[in-house]
Amino acid sequence: MNQRELFLRHVGQTSPAPLALEIVKADCCTLYDAVGMEYIDLIGGISVANVGHRHPKVITAIQQQLEAYLHVMVYGEFIESPQVQYAQLLTAHLPASLNSVYFTNSGAEAVEGAMKLAKRVTNRTRIIAFKNSYHGSTQGALSIIGDEYWRNAFRPLLPDVLHLDYGSFDALKEITEQTACVIAETVQAEAGIKVPSSEWILALRDRCTETGTLLILDEIQAGFGRTGKLWGFEHFNIVPDVLLLGKALGGGMPLGAFIANKKMMDAFTENPVLGHITTFGGHPVCCAAGMAGMKALLEEGWIEKVKAKEQLFLSLLKHKKIKAVRSFGLWMAVGFDSFETSKKIIDQCIQSGVLTDWFLFAPNCLRISPPLIIAEEQIKMACDIILKACND
Ligand code: PMP
Repeated sequence: MNQRELFLRHVGQTSPAPLALEIVKADCCTLYDAVGMEYIDLIGGISVANVGHRHPKVITAIQQQLEAYLHVMVYGEFIESPQVQYAQLLTAHLPASLNSVYFTNSGAEAVEGAMKLAKRVTNRTRIIAFKNSYHGSTQGALSIIGDEYWRNAFRPLLPDVLHLDYGSFDALKEITEQTACVIAETVQAEAGIKVPSSEWILALRDRCTETGTLLILDEIQAGFGRTGKLWGFEHFNIVPDVLLLGKALGGGMPLGAFIANKKMMDAFTENPVLGHITTFGGHPVCCAAGMAGMKALLEEGWIEKVKAKEQLFLSLLKHKKIKAVRSFGLWMAVGFDSFETSKKIIDQCIQSGVLTDWFLFAPNCLRISPPLIIAEEQIKMACDIILKACND
C-alpha cells in the first residue's frame, strides 16, 4: 500500500477530498513533495509560517532546548525559562495592561481558557460572538463559530451564546450588563478577510467598556505581522481586555496563548484553585521555537515590508475573472464568481506549483496568506501562475 492509501485508511479524515500532497521538505516559502514538485507556499500552513518554514534561528532554538529538557511538569508549576522569556518578550511588545500570558497547546484552547476567564472575572454567563467567525473546533469554541451549518450537528453546545452581525452598529445594543465577553476577530479571516471600520471597532470597544464586558480579540490569524503591524488591533487604536494568539506564535510548533491583565488572570488561582490547567500547554520546545520566530520577525524587518508586498500582489492580480480582492497586509481573498470557478483555479494553481486554498465562509475566494518572507520574485511567479489558471 502506498503512502496515500495508508493516509486515507489510517489517518482520521475530515474531508472527502483532502489535498493529499505528500510533503517531504519545507524551506522558507517553498514546499517539496514526494514526486519532485516544488510549490510556492501562498498559505504558510494557514498563517503559521510567518517567518517561513524552518527558519534557521527557530531550528537552532529547538535544538538547544532539546539538549536541556522536554516536558518536565504540568503547566504553571515549574519555572521553565523558555516560557518565562517568551512571556516577557510578548508582553514587552503589548500594551501595559496585557501583561500576563497563559500558554496553551492550540488556538482553540486559548479560546476556551479566555471564555472561562471571562465568566470567572465578570460573574456573568452570556457570550457574544459574530456571524462568519471561526474560533476553533472544540465544543466551547464551536459554540461561538458563526455558522449554523458547522454548529448544528454537535448540539447541545454552550448555552447563552449570541451571534451578532459583524460591523453592525445596531447589533452592539445587544451587549449589556449581562454579557461576560464579546469575542471578535480583529479582522474576520474565514469570512474572506473582512476588515471592520475603525468607527465600528471603536464603538465595540466603548460598548464593552460601558457595560463591563470583556473584549476578547482573536488574533490567531491576524497576529505576528500578518496585517503589516505586529498586532492587528494596532491599526484601530484600541486595546482588548484579552488577546488570543496561536498559529505563528509557535514559529511552526504547536502553541496558543491568551493574554490578559495579571489581576484578571489571577482569578484562576482560587475558587477553584487550578482554575485552568493543561499538561503540555507552553511546552518548552514550542516556547523556545516561538520566541526565536518572533525575534526573527522583529529583528529582520519583515513586518515593514508587508505593505509593499501587498501592493505588488494587488498590482499583479488583475483579470476579468477576478471580481474583487479584499486585502489587509499579506492576507488576501481573491474573489471569483462562484466556488466552482475558484475551485478550478485553485486546483490548477496547485498543479502548476502554487499552493493555495479557499476560505471556510467565502468558498468563492482564493486564499493568499504566505510567509511574510516571500520574495518579490516568488510573488511575481505565483501571480503569473494564478493569472494563467484564470485563462484556462
Ligand atoms: N481562531 C482563528 C481566527 C483561527 O483561524 C483558528 C484556526 N484556523 C482558531 C481560532 C483555532 O486555532 P486551532 O486550530 O489552533 O485550534
